[in-house]
Amino acid sequence: MANFEEYKELLEENAPSECQACGGPLVLEKVNLEDYQGGKLFMMEKVPAFVCQNCGEIWVPEPVMLEFERMIETVKLKKQEKNVKKKTPVKKHKEKKKNIREEH
Ligand SMILES: [Zn+2]
Repeated sequence: MANFEEYKELLEENAPSECQACGGPLVLEKVNLEDYQGGKLFMMEKVPAFVCQNCGEIWVPEPVMLEFERMIETVKLKKQEKNVKKKTPVKKHKEKKKNIREEH
């Protein structure tokens, strides 16, 4: 999870002075990031990014982008783990039978 306060100091140190598209003033704001990968929509809410006050262009700092990409990878890995669990119901069945025999 991206911590706004944690990033704020770092971002203000490396803050771009003006919008690279129109030269307007940039302000550090909380924005929502969205990305489509593998037909799924990934979202990260309230992350710090520089928003142009003139044209509205959003400049997402590199550490925030990396955090977002890491989050997507984590979600993908979790889904793979779930799929593995689904494939092993046979083992559980055997364990139940064992327990019943032991109780008798
Ligand atoms: Zn601009």
